[in-house]
Amino acid sequence: MSCELCDPAGSDLASFACWRIFAARDQNYLGKCIIALRRHEEDFLALTEAERDEMWEAARAVRDALARRFAPDHFNYQVLGNSGRHVHMHLTPRYTSPREFGGITFTDDHWGTWPFPSEQALPEGFLKTLADAISRVMPPKGAAK
Ligand SMILES: [Zn+2]
Repeated sequence: MSCELCDPAGSDLASFACWRIFAARDQNYLGKCIIALRRHEEDFLALTEAERDEMWEAARAVRDALARRFAPDHFNYQVLGNSGRHVHMHLTPRYTSPREFGGITFTDDHWGTWPFPSEQALPEGFLKTLADAISRVMPPKGAAK
């Protein structure tokens, strides 16, 4: 079985026991992060109590870090499992106005509705720079070790 989320690329932004956090490859919404269960599980409702509790902590830590770094106007929390069945959450910051980061201007062209995916070429090293920027403002509870 090949599962991209069992062995994701990208550095872990935090140090939660049950969840990995990393910057999404698509940054159509600046700071979009993936929170993925460390073990392979495809049923979101089959999480253990400890996993469920820590998912809330992890999502809150990411939300707070993104709030500090980019001041989003809203957050979307998506658990869909359409293209990757491994349990994960897309934590998508939403913006009413453009944000600048790494020499790129990001605009939320779908404010007020679904966070539609879009292709956007990112310069070499962008995701690492973004991951470092988010990781630096992660609350102590979830800070990477
Ligand atoms: Zn998996």
